[in-house]
Parts: sequence; structure tokens; C-alpha cells
Amino acid sequence: MTKIPTTQNLLKPLFSEILAWIYPPLCSACKMIIPIQERFHREIYLCETCALLLEPIGGIICTVCGKPRETVTSLDKTMLSGDDAMNGTACCEDDYVCKDCRARHHHFAANRAAFIYDGILKDMMHDMKFRARRTVAEGLGRYWAHLIVQEKVSLPCTITDSCVLVPLPMHVQKVKQRGYNQAEILSLQLSKHLGIPTQEVLFRIKNTAPQSGLHPAARAENVNGVFKINPKTFDASKQYIIIDDIYTTGASLNECAKTLKNAGAANIYCMTTAITVKFNKGILL
Ligand SMILES: [Zn+2]
Ligand SMILES: [Zn+2]
Repeated sequence: MTKIPTTQNLLKPLFSEILAWIYPPLCSACKMIIPIQERFHREIYLCETCALLLEPIGGIICTVCGKPRETVTSLDKTMLSGDDAMNGTACCEDDYVCKDCRARHHHFAANRAAFIYDGILKDMMHDMKFRARRTVAEGLGRYWAHLIVQEKVSLPCTITDSCVLVPLPMHVQKVKQRGYNQAEILSLQLSKHLGIPTQEVLFRIKNTAPQSGLHPAARAENVNGVFKINPKTFDASKQYIIIDDIYTTGASLNECAKTLKNAGAANIYCMTTAITVKFNKGILL
């Protein structure tokens, strides 16, 4: 059925144009005004220069968590050229599984991250979480979706009609404090541009200490039993993809996956904007 455009729908883009002219969008990274001719970059709140610094993960990655192979260094990546496996979209050659994933049991089948948590992305994510900069999440979500469409960022599974995106839930108290759940904003942007629905399938029933201040070994314990299924939306036959901003040890994602699995879901995956890696003097270990 063809939608008849309403006056409100027709005025919406015009209103956004006027608003962008009065308050020009600033780059989330360098905080400079993004030139008017850079329309796409205005939509992702990243100037052209900073967007180029945000390079998607390429080369051989862990088949489980999506982390780049430990032996691949930044130096290797710049020295190799052409269509070598180190360049372009991430791939899972040799069924490589990283040390962390060999040591842990995951309730999800795979995670795929778009970027390494480093450089300008660290500052952007800090602004997004602690300075209530909602536009950073909106821009990153949109850019992430764009890179998936361009096949520069891989997905954890084949997308089917039964796929549902599940933002990692934040406790209601924390949502009140921050004003939003960044995982939900990221997920809604992915939904909008990839056509996969976002649903609130999980609740967070305990307000726990932030994972970032905890030792890796304490993270799993900190989130144990904190999530609950939403019976109104849960459907065991769906293919769930849990969405979050950063993958560190994967403890929160794993607990979400465990909750979905215990309720009967069989196909569980994760997608994160970034993943942490260990560096030594600027070289990926
Ligand atoms: Zn910039
Ligand atoms: Zn791994």
C-alpha cells in the first residue's frame, strides 16, 4: 500500500535542515563543525578525517569473540598490501579461537565487533557513557550499519526473518541517570538501516557495580542472575543477536545469552561496536 505523505512528514526533513543550519553537527571525535557538503558525515556525527581513523576490524579474527588474531600486529597490517587476508573484511581462516575463548565457556555461538576499542573511539565511548552524548551512540550505530551494508564489517550469523536484535539491558535506575541505554540506541540504528527488528526481550533486575572497575575474574560473578526474560516478547524459535557497545571479557553478554538459553532459545549471537585487545608499545599482542 502506498503511503500518502502528510504535511508533518513533508516538513520533517525541512525542519531538520533548518535545525542543522542553526546548530551545525559537531564531530564526535574532534568536536569541529562538520562541513555542510559532508551530508553523510553529518548523519554519523563524524567528520571525514575522523571517520577514516575509525578503521573496521579486518584480517583473521577469533571465530568466537571476533577479536583479531593475537599474532597479527598493526605493523603487519600496514606492511601487507593488495588483497592479502590481512586487509579488508574480517575472516575466520583456520577456525582460529583466541586464548580467552579457549579458556571460557560461552553460551552464545559467536560475537562480531566492528572496531578495536582504541584511539578516538575510546574518547567517543567515554563521552557517550559519562557525558550523556546521545548523538555519539546514534552516529556510531548508523556508521556501524553502513559498514555492514558495505560488507566491511562482518555479522555473527546469516540474517533470516527470525532474527531479532536484543539490546543488553541496563538497570532502570541507570537509564534514569544517563537518560538512555546506549545499547538500545545502537540497536535501534542497526534496526533502522538493516531491517532487523529490535525487541526488549530481557530485563535487568539488579543494579550492580560497573563491570569496568572489576577484575576480569570478578565480572562473571557480578552479573550472575541479573537478567530476566520478558515473557511478553520472548519466543524460543527466534534467532537472537544481543547488542552492546564494548566486548571486554564478554561476561555480561554471556549472562544474557545464558538467560535466553535457559528459557529455551537455541540460536544466540552477539554484536558489539568495539572489542578490547591487549597492546604492547602500540602493537597488538
Ligand atoms: Zn573530526
Ligand atoms: Zn576469542
